[in-house]
Amino acid sequence: MSGTDHATATPDTVAAIDFDPDALREKYRAERDKRLRPEGNAQYVEVKGDFSHYVDDPYVDPDFTRAPVSEAIDVLIVGGGFGGLSMAAQLRMAGSQSLRIIEKGGDFGGTWYWNRYPGAQCDIESYCYLPLLEETGYVPKEKYSFSPEIWEHAQRIGKKFDLYKDALFQTQISEMRWQEDEGRWLIRTNRGDAIKAHFVIQTNGALDRPKLPGIPGIDTFKGHTFHTSRWDYTYTGVDTTGGLTNLADKRVAVIGTGATAIQCVPHIATHAKHLFVFQRTPSSVDERRNAPTDPQWAESLKPGWQKARRRNFVSLTSGLPQDEDLVGDGWTDAVRSIGGFFATGAGDASPEELARMMEIADFKKMNQLRARIEMIVNDKATAEALKPWYRQFCKRPTFNDDYLPTFNRPNVTLIDTQGHGPDAITETGIVYGGKTYDVDCIIFATGFEVGTRYARRMGFETYGRAGRSLSEEWSKGIRSLHGFYSRDFPNLFHMGISQNGVSYCVTYHLDEQADHIAQVLKHAQLHQANRVEPTDAAEKAWVAVIRSKSGVTRDFQRDCTPGYYNNEGRPGESVGLIDEVYGGGPIEFYDLIRNWREQDMEGLQIR
Ligand code: NDP
Repeated sequence: MSGTDHATATPDTVAAIDFDPDALREKYRAERDKRLRPEGNAQYVEVKGDFSHYVDDPYVDPDFTRAPVSEAIDVLIVGGGFGGLSMAAQLRMAGSQSLRIIEKGGDFGGTWYWNRYPGAQCDIESYCYLPLLEETGYVPKEKYSFSPEIWEHAQRIGKKFDLYKDALFQTQISEMRWQEDEGRWLIRTNRGDAIKAHFVIQTNGALDRPKLPGIPGIDTFKGHTFHTSRWDYTYTGVDTTGGLTNLADKRVAVIGTGATAIQCVPHIATHAKHLFVFQRTPSSVDERRNAPTDPQWAESLKPGWQKARRRNFVSLTSGLPQDEDLVGDGWTDAVRSIGGFFATGAGDASPEELARMMEIADFKKMNQLRARIEMIVNDKATAEALKPWYRQFCKRPTFNDDYLPTFNRPNVTLIDTQGHGPDAITETGIVYGGKTYDVDCIIFATGFEVGTRYARRMGFETYGRAGRSLSEEWSKGIRSLHGFYSRDFPNLFHMGISQNGVSYCVTYHLDEQADHIAQVLKHAQLHQANRVEPTDAAEKAWVAVIRSKSGVTRDFQRDCTPGYYNNEGRPGESVGLIDEVYGGGPIEFYDLIRNWREQDMEGLQIR
C-alpha cells in the first residue's frame, strides 16, 4: 500500500510554462487586498455574554451535577482530546496512577467530540492520524476516517489505558494558580473542585474556541442559528450520516467556506429546501481518493509500522527527501510537487532561483485545481467565483469529491462576497450587495479563535509566580523554552504548536510531545524535583531561535490571503497559528529536543 509515484516538479518542467507568472502574482495580490481588513482579529465576535449559548454542549444533559472534588495529585492534564489521551497513555505506560484529566465535554475526543457535523472526516490518512493504533490493536476501516470512527478510537484509548476513572467531564477550569510555598498548582473549576497538582499539562487544542463573524446585526436574527462545532441535530434531524430530514422545508444559510463547510455543505444541500453558501475566500478543493482498508495489507504490517509511516508522511510534507512515499495522497503529492526540489535536487540553484521554481510549481498546481472547478461546475460565473487565487499552502488545502458538484443543484446558491463577507444580518436573513436573502437558519462555519488573548481562547486564566497572569506575560508574544515551559510558571507544560514544531499530522506531533514530556517528568521524579522551570536566558535564547528561523515562513505568509494561518494578513504582529512555529520543520525539531534531553536538558532548572 505504498503511494503512487506522482510527477514531481523539476527545474525543467518548471521551465515549460504556459501562463504569465507576473499576471498571476498580480491577481493574487489584488485578491488578497480585497480580503484584508484593518481590524484584523478584532473583526470576530467573542463567544460570551449573549453569544455564550454558541459554546453550550448540545450532546450532554445540561442538568448534570456531581459532588465537588478536593484532592492532591501528581499530574493534572487539561483537555481530553488526542493530546490529553496520548499524554495520559504515556504516563500510564510509565506506571503513573496519580492522574486527573479535566475535560469540558461529556467524553474524551476533543475535536472529534465537538465536531459531529454531517460529513466530518479527517483529511489526514487514518493510519497516520489515529494515534496508538499498534498499542490498541486497531486498524481503521478506510484510508480517511469519518468522525464517528475517530471519536470511537478516542474512547478506545480511554478504555485501554483505564483513563475514564481519572476523568472529570463536563468540567471547566475557572482558574489555575501556582502555590509557591507548596510547589503545586491549585486548580479550581466551575463544579466547585479544588485540585492540587504537582504538574499540569495543558493540551486544550489550537482550534478549540468557536468564533463568530462580526457581521452587523448578528444578534438580531430571529431564526435558528448554531456553530458547526455544536451541530444542532434536534433542529436539522437525525445523525452524522447526513439524514437531515427536518431541513426539507427550510431555507438555510452557511457562512464560511473553510475545511468544515467543504464537508458539511453537500449534506445540507441534499436535504434543505434551499441552501445559500456565503463565501468570503474559496478553499482549494482537490480529489478525496478514499478507499477501504485492504485486509491483506493490514495483516502484513510489522511492529513499528505506524511510527515509520507517520515519520515518512511528516518528512515528505515538510520537504525532506524520502526513498518512498508510503501514504501517497494529496498532501504528499502537493508538497512534493511544490517543494519537491529538495528531493529531486535543484542543481546549483540559488535560494532565489529555488523560491522562483517553487512559486511556478505552486502556480501550476493551483491552475490544475482551478481547471478542475471549470470541469465540474456547470454555471460559468459560479465556477469563476469558486476559484481560489493564492498559493496552495496559504490556506488549508481541502480534499472532497462532493463539494463542487453541490453547486450544480438547483436548490443551492453561492453568494460570493468578493472577500468582504455579508454586509449585515437582519431579523429575517442575510444582506449582501443590497439584497436580503431570507432564511430560516444560519449555520456559522466560521472556525475557531486563533491569536487572541490566552485566557479568551482557554476560557480561564493561569496565574504563575507572584500572581502573574499568562495572558499578560504572553500579550506581546509567547515566551517559552521549546514551546513547553515558561519562566515564572513552574511545573506547567504546554502541548500544541506554539514555538515548537508542527506537522500536518497533528496527532503525530502530539505523540512526540507526550513522549518528550513523559521523559522530562521521569527525570524530574528521579531527582525528586518539585520545580521544573526554564532559566530566563534559555527562554530568551529559544524565542530568538524561533524568530530567526521564522523569516522564510513570515515572508511567505505576508503575501498570503488573510486568515488564521497568518494572523489575518499581519504575520508577526500577534500569534497566528503557524506564525510562531519552529522554522526548521518538525523532524528537525523532534531531533533537536531528543538531543537536548540526552545532553542534560540545558536551560531547564530541575530542582
Ligand atoms: P476556518 O477558519 O478554516 O474557516 C472559516 C471560514 O469562515 C472561512 O471560509 C472564513 O473566510 C469564513 N468567515 C469568517 N468570517 C466571515 C465573514 N465575516 N463572512 C464570511 N465568511 C467568513 O474554519 P473551519 O472550521 O472550516 O476549519 C478550521 C480548521 O479545522 C481547518 O483549517 C482545519 O485545520 C481543521 N479541520 C480539519 C479537518 C480535517 O479533515 N482534518 C476538517 C475540518 C476542519 P476567510 O477564509 O475569508 O477568512
